[in-house]
Amino acid sequence: MIPKQTAAGQGWQSAQGADVELSLPATNAPHRRAVLRALLWLTISCGVFFASVNITVGNHPVALAELTMAAYAGLLLWVIRRPEIHLDRWILAYLIPFCTTMMFACWYRRAEPTVFVWPILIPVVSYLLLGRRAGFWFTLVFLCISLAIFAIKLAQTGDVYAIAAIANVVLCAACIFGLSHAYEVTREQAEARLRALALRDPLTGLCNRAGLSEAFQLQRAQADRYGTPLSTVLLDLDHFKRINDDYGHETGDKVLVAFADCLKDALRESDLACRLGGEEFALLLPRTGLDEATQIAERLRNAIAAARCEHNGHAISITATLGVAELDATSEDLQSLLARADERLYRGKNAGRDRVMAA
Ligand code: GH3
Ligand code: MG
Ligand code: MG
Repeated sequence: MIPKQTAAGQGWQSAQGADVELSLPATNAPHRRAVLRALLWLTISCGVFFASVNITVGNHPVALAELTMAAYAGLLLWVIRRPEIHLDRWILAYLIPFCTTMMFACWYRRAEPTVFVWPILIPVVSYLLLGRRAGFWFTLVFLCISLAIFAIKLAQTGDVYAIAAIANVVLCAACIFGLSHAYEVTREQAEARLRALALRDPLTGLCNRAGLSEAFQLQRAQADRYGTPLSTVLLDLDHFKRINDDYGHETGDKVLVAFADCLKDALRESDLACRLGGEEFALLLPRTGLDEATQIAERLRNAIAAARCEHNGHAISITATLGVAELDATSEDLQSLLARADERLYRGKNAGRDRVMAA
């Protein structure tokens, strides 16, 4: 095994070293749900309040639009109450009518001129709910429409201060647009860094136990949905303590990194290799039954035994013992699956190491 430094990119790495996104879609992030819920409550309160004001001053069409939006927000609040609801389409189902009502209020000929402060909310709300890319396009479209309405209305009044007023609104909207964009970019980068720290082993670049647990949830759901098998292989390096004792801890670390690279090279793109801790590793093999997983484990065992890690002119070799288990039922949890593979692995250790145990 020739050690090589693992690239420290964002996200996680699959067995082959490619970045893979195993998290839930961003729009299902808990903060988006909380923001949407808060906005729906705000829409209900503001809708009822402004509808009352508009009824009092005789703006009945606008009042009707506001009351309809408040009732619709109430309906959406009821729909998204269940945590398993995927938020993507409900966010759009809220944002499109919300912004359209806002445009209508701006366009209405008897509307208060200060109604144009509301479109300035669009960038903040869009970026919070839709994220960077979709938030950008959504903001651009609705801000352009509202600024066009504003310009047309000012031109109709023939106000001499029209240009200054337009400039103020445009500049203020552009500032909030830019700040929202910068905020979302920074937030996404910080989230990606935190995820990488939380889910990846810093030494080898493989995902850690938390990463395996998250990947397992997704893969078990897929296995359940498509009726496909899912297997795991546990690997423990044999007599690893001797490597540290003979060559030092630093060389031991290099061997671990080289071993992780060996796993990445040997596995398929869809497989996931994880470092559980110390010199213990686990593989998650989607769409793979026990027999195929055993063949993969045997191939790996041979590759590990044949590999050499160079150190000060010495070629260090190592072997591993592997325990294989297939997910019994889709109700089985990761702990129980790993426990079965672990039990086989330790039988392999007792039987003399450097072997694969699958029963
Ligand atoms: P066995 O064949 O029974 O698994 O023997 P072993 O020596 O591999 O197992 P044991 O549990 O006795 O020792 C594991 C060793 O792994 C001891 C520890 O110093 C070493 N180790 C654990 N984590 C690291 C690490 O991050 N870096 C290095 N260099 N060594 C580590
Ligand atoms: Mg061990
Ligand atoms: Mg060991």
